[in-house]
Amino acid sequence: VEVRSFDELRALGDRAKGKIVFFNRPMDPTLLNTFEAYGGAVDQRGSGAVEAAKAGAVAALVRSVTLARDNVPHTGAMHYDAAVPKAPAAAVGTLDANLISALLRKGENVVIRLRLSCETLPDAPSGNVLGQITGWEKPDEVIVVGGHLDSWDKGTGAHDDGSGCMQAIEVLNLFKKLNMRPRRTIRAVMFMNEENGNRGGKAYPKAPGRAHERQIAAIESDAGGFAPRGLSVEADSLVFERVLRWRPLFASLNAGDIVRGGSGVDIDPLVKGGTAGIGVIVENHRYFDYHHSANDTIDKVNPRELEMGAIVQALLCYLISEEGLAVEPASGR
Ligand SMILES: [Zn+2]
Repeated sequence: VEVRSFDELRALGDRAKGKIVFFNRPMDPTLLNTFEAYGGAVDQRGSGAVEAAKAGAVAALVRSVTLARDNVPHTGAMHYDAAVPKAPAAAVGTLDANLISALLRKGENVVIRLRLSCETLPDAPSGNVLGQITGWEKPDEVIVVGGHLDSWDKGTGAHDDGSGCMQAIEVLNLFKKLNMRPRRTIRAVMFMNEENGNRGGKAYPKAPGRAHERQIAAIESDAGGFAPRGLSVEADSLVFERVLRWRPLFASLNAGDIVRGGSGVDIDPLVKGGTAGIGVIVENHRYFDYHHSANDTIDKVNPRELEMGAIVQALLCYLISEEGLAVEPASGR
């Protein structure tokens, strides 16, 4: 049975019993920002299994949360509810989703056999990976620049988030190449386990050694290694004003779109603790073509766009390192 919303599923009543519920609400292609379109469709993947089981269905089949027209399934986080039986859930490529929908509309009896080999294994130890250039003047004031090291198993995670990791390393590399020592410490952090619970992001602020440091800013690139367009600042208005003052420099790199908004999942625990979070905004039209699928491989990453992202982050690290993020009080006379 095909539905496009949980309301529609509930309205089916007993008609979903013993069936596979096929969630087929596409991402809205009329939205300019694909992340917004993703946000409007991803509930089907996250909660589809629980809602299907509540309706008495045997499984959930979800239209891949992508705007690509192909037959590559896109995976991602989903959850169960202890009060509801665990129904298996799977994603299907958009072309097959369209085909299934057309057959159902014609009134055909569509039979789908699901054979899933996925399983949840016990937790195992892992770790964040850190490297830094220690600041010469204020070594205990730290600017984190990072991405996440883990990825979904379907692809290799080249855009999500190998790009962010490599850019963080490249930021340090650029300082080294230019033989520049920052005033404050710049620390590249490859966070572990973003996709499956954000344990690395949560562990970072609590790690030994953090106690004597001040994490003044955290920068994250986790929207793919595409051409950078700007910065999304998650901090108070004074910090935002400070970043806005640097806009002409970023505009010269076509990355002058500086807005207030979310920054990144990995750095969210830092932001909650008072660190200024800054997410890199990139050209996002193609991101969900690759996201969480077998398509997310290195050949999809344009080296020049990837490098531009590293340059923007290096510039941001340099400015924060040299000038800090605090707006100086008006000077006395
Ligand atoms: Zn990611």
